[in-house]
Amino acid sequence: MKIIIHGGFFSESDQSHEVKVAKQNSLKEIAQKAYHYLESHSAFETVAYAVSLLEDDELYNAGIGSQIQSDGVIRMSAAIMDGETQKMSGVINIQNVKNPILVAKDLMKEDDRVLGGSGAKNYASEHGFEDFSTEIPQRRKEYEAKLNNGGKGTVGCVALDKDGKLAVATSTGGKGFEIPGRISDSATVAGNYANEFCAVSCTGVGEDIVSNATSTKIVTRVTDGMDLKQAFDKTFAELKVIDGFAGAIAIDKNGNIFHQDSYPTMVFASFDGNQFEVFN
Ligand code: ASP
Repeated sequence: MKIIIHGGFFSESDQSHEVKVAKQNSLKEIAQKAYHYLESHSAFETVAYAVSLLEDDELYNAGIGSQIQSDGVIRMSAAIMDGETQKMSGVINIQNVKNPILVAKDLMKEDDRVLGGSGAKNYASEHGFEDFSTEIPQRRKEYEAKLNNGGKGTVGCVALDKDGKLAVATSTGGKGFEIPGRISDSATVAGNYANEFCAVSCTGVGEDIVSNATSTKIVTRVTDGMDLKQAFDKTFAELKVIDGFAGAIAIDKNGNIFHQDSYPTMVFASFDGNQFEVFN
């Protein structure tokens, strides 16, 4: 069993040392909780659980604490992919739900598995997800001061369970100040992708991640025989050509864990039952 989670990018210039330490502590606690959960649940159930815990922590730009868009409204996106079935489900630009990732997970049973905007919200309401405002005063203050921290704080989780199955989940409040209707990478196969060989979650500038098809490329390269490092190196070299800003976390079917970012640094934690790593 293996687990790796990320909490988006961290920049010393626009976030304080206290925030950095708080994020590291939070990631450590959530990685540990999620690992224990993985002992009795599948990778698919665990990535949703881990991402819901990250969404509940207002330190991150996902669920509670999401960034506000240019028109003053929060719209969130999240997706989950089961490596075994190779099915993805997601919500794009959903409003007023506490845990977009749990709505995304619920959609896995439907024929129509990716819903956007009011359709996503209507589905959530009809399936028992209560109305919930994810706005926190800090984000409103930032919005009013026209401060944009560039969406730093998107969250993701990749897990490998005891049956050797992989899954991935990613959730975001977006870039901040975006034009209403903008589509984040997080609920696309560029930002969140898995099959039986590898699973990858990204964070960074969604437009760069979509242009580079980052998660899909890494997973495809591992499927075709590259190891994780080779797959990341090649994909990040291609990202560099477009001066792309992105980071990714991954696990392969053999339990190898990997992460890389194009600009330092992504905050993440991994746990394999023995060894704990918390980085940024
Ligand atoms: N990838 C997210 C987006 O562009 C933002 C982030 O990861 O920080 O919507």
